[in-house]
Amino acid sequence: MAGTHPTQLLTHLLIDGELVAGLGREEAIINPATGEVLTRVADASTEQVEHAIQAAQRAFAGWARTTPQQRASALLSIADAIEAQADLLARLEALNCGKPLYLARQDDLTAAIDVFRFFAGAVRCQTGQLAGEYLPGYTSMVRRDPLGVVASIAPWNYPIMMAAWKIAPALAAGNTLVFKPSEHTPLSILALAPALAERLPRGVLNIVCGGGEGVGSHLVSHPAVRMVSLTGDIVTGQKILQSAAKTLKRTHLELGGKAPVIVCNDADLKAVVEGVRTYGYYNAGQDCTAACRIYAQAGIHDRLVAELGSAVSSVRFAGKRDADNEIGPLITTRQRDRVASFVERALSQPHIERVTGAAVHSGPGFYYQPTLLAGCKQTDEIVQREVFGPVVTVTRFDELSQAVDWANDSEYGLASSVWTQNLDKALHVAARLQYGCTWINSHFMLVSEMPHGGLKRSGYGKDLSSDSLQDYSVVRHIMARHREPWG
Ligand code: NAD
Repeated sequence: MAGTHPTQLLTHLLIDGELVAGLGREEAIINPATGEVLTRVADASTEQVEHAIQAAQRAFAGWARTTPQQRASALLSIADAIEAQADLLARLEALNCGKPLYLARQDDLTAAIDVFRFFAGAVRCQTGQLAGEYLPGYTSMVRRDPLGVVASIAPWNYPIMMAAWKIAPALAAGNTLVFKPSEHTPLSILALAPALAERLPRGVLNIVCGGGEGVGSHLVSHPAVRMVSLTGDIVTGQKILQSAAKTLKRTHLELGGKAPVIVCNDADLKAVVEGVRTYGYYNAGQDCTAACRIYAQAGIHDRLVAELGSAVSSVRFAGKRDADNEIGPLITTRQRDRVASFVERALSQPHIERVTGAAVHSGPGFYYQPTLLAGCKQTDEIVQREVFGPVVTVTRFDELSQAVDWANDSEYGLASSVWTQNLDKALHVAARLQYGCTWINSHFMLVSEMPHGGLKRSGYGKDLSSDSLQDYSVVRHIMARHREPWG
């Protein structure tokens, strides 16, 4: 591998156990940190998507009959393969997303490896209802069986980690898959494809590239696909639901977020500033759990705005040395322009104050300055809608109940946090927030053992944890009639 530029590696699809060149349209794969074209990847043709689905369908009977121990061995072997190639995969991830290499290695790759190892263990120790005679003369038992072919459709913000979140539980539960990465970020999963092909029976996992309207909608509308798992935009989720309704597919939707951050007067200000500086801007805010919507109580509000403003203006990006950078660019010029227009519209309102940032970075790459806006009102677009960029708003509140109402007054319901040194208050607020996750004096932390997923328009279904294994399987009741052998 020495001397090979990582993007010269295979960009072949994985279909029915074979690595094959895509026969569809070519997509230019861009490095958003420079704007340069890294390579080109050919989409799957309509026939190749069909072939991938049929291969997954053929492979299902065999894979569904493997034991949890056999599937766990395959997942552990995949985790080892990712670990062995982690430096290379991190380089690809950094190039394809523009994110700092050290963060891709330490965060994304570490998490992806852990997810495969977690599901290898989790599938071997599932629990359920007791078998028994709930009707005299009949023994009932419950099985948990796989669904069949799952189409998994991923976004661009954490490509290898999202692939792990989708592939590991679905395979562990005994399904076969057709996985589609985002058309913007296919490089890391394609580089891993040879190792996946070696470790899984043919057809069990297929990887096809292409856009949402073409390859994506083909997968979603196909009658042989039994479940669609999407991480993406709300509008994409709605389109998938409409299409899936025709064949009554199961759906698993992880959609956007607009995480409220409630900061009480008695919060540890230093911890809040550090937390929001990191987790409001991590991955340039392209994170559905980003700490982007602050509600600050009147007694701490002014100090928070001042200290956070100066902390955010020190976030390092677009530097020549990787280790100096804390965040990367936006994924495309389109995404950067979308962020810029959100901020422009916000600042056209006289009550909103620019504390720091609020401009496109001059220089190469699709960077936007880390931005803090204060004086925002609950009804403002910038408070209500997901920006998916390095933009955090601050809204002042007096009474805690008001902050909880405002936090819940959102179409989103994925993640939230409350910051206070009073545990009674923290637990009281946490119990009232309508979000899939609430952190107390923290934000953003995920672990493989705990469920991640939303309420309301953030979607439904859980990633990570044994809850995800349940989402990728179905409960079945087996009932046996019997006579007393001695009666
Ligand atoms: P997107 O919805 O544009 O694309 C996601 C995936 O869906 C891509 O692979 C795309 O090709 C595919 N797709 C698009 N239209 C489709 C269609 N009609 N049929 C089938 N597939 C289709 O989202 P994105 O821009 O890649 O990602 C950003 C969004 O994802 C944000 O809204 C963000 O909040 C959300 N997100 C959510 C989570 C979560 O855990 N809830 C995690 C990461 C990202």
